Amino acid sequence: SKLRVGLLFGGRSGEHEVSISSARAIALALSSEENANKYEILPFYIQKDGRWLAGDVPQQVLTSGVALTTLAAISKLWQFPAQTQEVDVWFPILHGPNGEDGTIQGLLSLMQVPFVGSGVLGSAMGMDKIAMKMAFAQAGLAQVKYLTLTRAQIWSNPCVFPKLCDQIEATLGYPCFVKPANLGSSVGIAKVRSSSELEAALDNAASYDRRIIVETGVVAREVECAVFGNDQPQASVVGEITFESDFYDYETKYTQGQADLLIPAQLPDSVMRQIQDMALQAFAAVDAAGLARVDFFYVEATGEILINEINTFPGFTATSMYPQLWAKSGIPFTELVDRLIQLALERTQKSE
Ligand code: ADP
Ligand code: MG
Ligand code: MG
Repeated sequence: SKLRVGLLFGGRSGEHEVSISSARAIALALSSEENANKYEILPFYIQKDGRWLAGDVPQQVLTSGVALTTLAAISKLWQFPAQTQEVDVWFPILHGPNGEDGTIQGLLSLMQVPFVGSGVLGSAMGMDKIAMKMAFAQAGLAQVKYLTLTRAQIWSNPCVFPKLCDQIEATLGYPCFVKPANLGSSVGIAKVRSSSELEAALDNAASYDRRIIVETGVVAREVECAVFGNDQPQASVVGEITFESDFYDYETKYTQGQADLLIPAQLPDSVMRQIQDMALQAFAAVDAAGLARVDFFYVEATGEILINEINTFPGFTATSMYPQLWAKSGIPFTELVDRLIQLALERTQKSE
């Protein structure tokens, strides 16, 4: 009989719509000729208020690609749909907080049903830019200089604040990047060019998260490597993102035609190999599983390769970087989705 795959998509983060696009692509791949005899899809749509819907509505959202906007009155006492009991393996296709950060992974672990991708620790480490950078430093991976601060330091102490700004200037200089620790899609991130812009950037980042990271800005090419596997992960060819805008901000990421993917990136072989090696080390450092995309800055002028971040559930439409990197490395989309499910099953068997 067919394995019932619970597609979990939508979600409470700002990447709700991106999640729907990824889920549509994955649903299509699971219904392809190669996969349709193995898998039955059970779609679950998480509304923007956090409620789970099973049945016709999720199917409609998958078919149309349009988010559901008319929400029922928000209640904290909602139940999980009964159909959640029928799932053999979960495919959490969720990006950002409340999906990619270990919260859903904790719930699925409690259900004792296998799921695609990283577990609680790997997901949480991969979402938190501060924890992630600590793990990377421990693994000896080169990265930009950074400072961390809290919302409380930024908001509630007017005498400390100017000192903080002085410290940022003296340690990191300009331009620097101010980021909420736990987000994605460049939301809440600002490039700060002078002291006059610093306060507003910190204030804005603090509105998104309790913990803030500030980094030295580098002039570099942005290159990405896909990782696939569990205990013996593999690295894909390296891809590059090019764009005209000042940095890879939200608009550049999600406006058609603003960014181009170049696969494989035009890099010396030794640089490509070093990036692949660093990607595998980063994957292990945060305890990722199944899949991850590891992003780097390549400072061409000095030859430095700096790790920027790991994303444990990267964008997954047919044209997204992660599946494209594997397509160019010999694993087509339909096979990739199948193998990710197999990795999920393999992982549960091992931990038991
Ligand atoms: P997200 O998780 O939201 O993608 P990133 O840390 O990847 O956050 O930052 C988003 C983008 O901001 C990067 O792709 C890059 O264009 C720019 N950026 C971030 N940090 C730096 C930095 N230290 N130096 C230069 N550019 C940066
Ligand atoms: Mg990210
Ligand atoms: Mg990024």
